Amino acid sequence: IFRAVVIEKNDTGQTVTLKDFSEADLMEGDVTLRVTHSTVNYKDGLALTGKSPVVRRFPMIPGIDCAGVVEISSNPDFRAGDRVILNGWGTGETHLGAYAEKSRVKGDWLVPLPDGLTPAEAMAIGTAGYTAMLSVLALEKHGLKPTDGPVVVTGAAGGVGSVAIALLAKAGWHVIASTGRAKEADYLKSLGATEIIDRNELSGAGRPLGKERWIAGVDCVGSHTLANVLSMTRYGGAVTACGLAQGMDLSASVAPFILRGVSLLGIDSVMCPKPRRVEAWARLATDLDRGKLAGITSTIRLEDTIAAGADILAGKVRGRLVVEIDRN
Ligand code: NAP
Repeated sequence: IFRAVVIEKNDTGQTVTLKDFSEADLMEGDVTLRVTHSTVNYKDGLALTGKSPVVRRFPMIPGIDCAGVVEISSNPDFRAGDRVILNGWGTGETHLGAYAEKSRVKGDWLVPLPDGLTPAEAMAIGTAGYTAMLSVLALEKHGLKPTDGPVVVTGAAGGVGSVAIALLAKAGWHVIASTGRAKEADYLKSLGATEIIDRNELSGAGRPLGKERWIAGVDCVGSHTLANVLSMTRYGGAVTACGLAQGMDLSASVAPFILRGVSLLGIDSVMCPKPRRVEAWARLATDLDRGKLAGITSTIRLEDTIAAGADILAGKVRGRLVVEIDRN
């Protein structure tokens, strides 16, 4: 028996409670973990509130990110006592997830905790930060570099946005942060943003081609914002798309692609192959400023995750939340 946040479905919708859960009811997997830390991402908010059909199995333990210690393993790559992290692969969606004292998963999903990162830091990074790193890697693989021009980050004060700004600024980029929270300007500048723009400049229906303002973009928002970011990207530039905070729709024109050679780079963290994950985590361990990471992180307890899910959807969470489950 261990403690877990459990989502159950009934006739009127779903209930979410912190309750006892039996180890015998854990799902299949060749590694059993003692979970020490997790985090709350936007997707966790969708699961906890039931606002989108993220959860595909009931009862479900939500939580898409986990840091823990291996207790039992029949996977040749892991032994009892190993410290590991897990991001995505359907945990918290189709497979019982991280808001629990224990988890049983496929060893193939696990990445060893990178050298130099504590489990709490890894969860402060979480899927949001690892997605930010995947976005930066995608821009680099496209051949873009800081001397080519500025980069715009949308959803700047959110989890992906905050980490993306810190990473891009560290790499020498001139970062333009687009936010709806003007009061977070100092926060965004402390992360390394050079310019702040109001997200309203980008959130309405726009023109097929706008004034060229940046060579690269990291978009967390989708919808009109992504269309406008594309339309304002300079010749030969690229924009990554990872999010849908404004909407899943994309009513854009092909003009930026066919007249300016702009590229749209899709980012998926959930099914991302292991070698790319290991590369992203190694870069996070070396490139992400720990002081900045601490500055964007707040710590909560397992029982606080339920309220935090609603807060993140309401855009009230600044930066990243770490869920401390068992600090040892
Ligand atoms: P988050 O912390 O909630 O950040 C989202 C940010 O988007 C908010 O902080 C806000 O930034 C902005 N925003 C919210 N509502 C908006 C609206 N209606 N119009 C314009 N901007 C809006 O979430 P996150 O964890 O960083 O995730 C960001 C997005 O990426 C989410 O859509 C998430 O589902 C997605 N995501 C995808 C992957 C993947 O694998 N593809 C992985 C991780 C996350 P400001 O307050 O600064 O305006």
